[in-house]
Amino acid sequence: MEEKTRNKILFLAIGLIVSCLAIQSQEKVEQSKEFLLRAIEFHGHLGPYLVLGLRAGLYANKMLGKDPMETEAFIKTKTTPPESCFADGVQISTGCTFGKRNISLEEGEGLQVTFKKNNQKLALKLKEEIIEEMNSLPSEERAWEDLVRDLYKRDIKEIFEIVKQTKEK
Ligand SMILES: [Zn+2]
Repeated sequence: MEEKTRNKILFLAIGLIVSCLAIQSQEKVEQSKEFLLRAIEFHGHLGPYLVLGLRAGLYANKMLGKDPMETEAFIKTKTTPPESCFADGVQISTGCTFGKRNISLEEGEGLQVTFKKNNQKLALKLKEEIIEEMNSLPSEERAWEDLVRDLYKRDIKEIFEIVKQTKEK
């Protein structure tokens, strides 16, 4: 192989690695401690439903591309706290806001959120196991803190049942 060609390949490889690292660190910045602190500042306190809303919203950003104008979020759960706190997590992560009317909260069993953007649809349903886990948790603050911290990091597929659809045009 010619040295020139070899250098070219080397440059391409380095470029690819650098851009992969950039994408990775971008995701990390979003799901960071700083981002969680911003969410707590906005919402007023830290709770499991806020964190579940953040996780759902960040996942929607990743799957559909973040767009605070084009994305719509439809939430179905209890319309009172703590369940309704989920909506604040979705607002701060996706930029869908009640002021812009591209987020809605409707009374329903369990917890479900559907995101729509252009012709794409992403539906997340909170797993029964997570609801059971919260119901069976002792009331000590420490136990809740541990759960919340864990929910912020846990694999998204262990938290939600996920359905992604591309609608026919
Ligand atoms: Zn709350």
